Amino acid sequence: MSQLLHSASVRKLITKGLKSECKALKEKNIFPSMKVVLVGSDPASVIYTTSKKKFCEKIGALCEIVTLDEKISEAEFLNTINEINSDDSVHGCIIQMPLPKHLSHLDVGRLVKKEKDVDGFHPENLYALLSNNGDQHDFISCTPKGILTLMQESQISVAGKHVVIIGRSMIVGKPLAMLLTNHNATVTLCHSHTENLKDLTKKCDILVSAIGKANFIDESYLSANKNQVIIDVGMNTDTQGQLCGDVYFEKVVDHVSAITPVPGGVGPMTIVSLAQNLLQASKNRLSL
Ligand code: NAP
Repeated sequence: MSQLLHSASVRKLITKGLKSECKALKEKNIFPSMKVVLVGSDPASVIYTTSKKKFCEKIGALCEIVTLDEKISEAEFLNTINEINSDDSVHGCIIQMPLPKHLSHLDVGRLVKKEKDVDGFHPENLYALLSNNGDQHDFISCTPKGILTLMQESQISVAGKHVVIIGRSMIVGKPLAMLLTNHNATVTLCHSHTENLKDLTKKCDILVSAIGKANFIDESYLSANKNQVIIDVGMNTDTQGQLCGDVYFEKVVDHVSAITPVPGGVGPMTIVSLAQNLLQASKNRLSL
């Protein structure tokens, strides 16, 4: 019988801690506050930004969704970000992706200043992760941080383990590879040009899939020993229009030792990490 790595109980526990941290900050006159910049009205982006706002409010933090017209000029868009960067009452800022085509050339990671970069995309935050010299003042990208937290809270150690990650995006695969390496895992980072992918996935201890293809991973990718942990990052739509992961859950669940469901696995942990980063950004203000 495999272990289902639901994030609900972990999230509940962490939420309780975040609520008291937020209260303690307010007692010191720091009111944790975040702005989420949303350009246009892409339905998925509206859902993601609303969930972020709701969770921030649940822990007692302020969160404003700054909705900008889809056709906003580049100058006006940059001006909005600069105003947020210089507003001392705001501790964290994220730019909801994707941006419309006319803004997609912008190097988004450099726009929000490092101290407010609760998404962990700023080059200095990424360098801290890369060099493993970061401290609690730096921000780790939310999805990788959430995956590690979920595994830690589920007593799954990565130290000494061989982890195969499929997907090399800047928001999941690459930072996760660094984070798990820093936690003493041996990581193989795979992508669409990886040859003999199944040979690699069959041999690993932990398989993380961040591909973006519904039900891509079935039992043919797995070891016959049924001893692997599967972390499914994918958020896709199946042929019935339902949310599903990269992993064909029904086909895989009896062939593994533990697996994250979709929904209810990695997704909610990403928002938890964002709130943790926001409170860290707010606390950092105390040491200025
Ligand atoms: P992405 O930018 O969409 O890139 C997908 C990655 O998968 C690329 O590295 C690509 O390789 C690789 N890939 C595609 N097809 C492949 C194949 N057949 N074999 C091996 N590798 C393949 O990635 P992303 O933004 O990280 O998103 C991935 C998925 O995670 C999506 O479903 C997204 O919605 C989800 N996601 C979830 C969360 C969450 O909070 N749960 C957060 C972020 C993303 P190449 O580099 O060679 O093209």
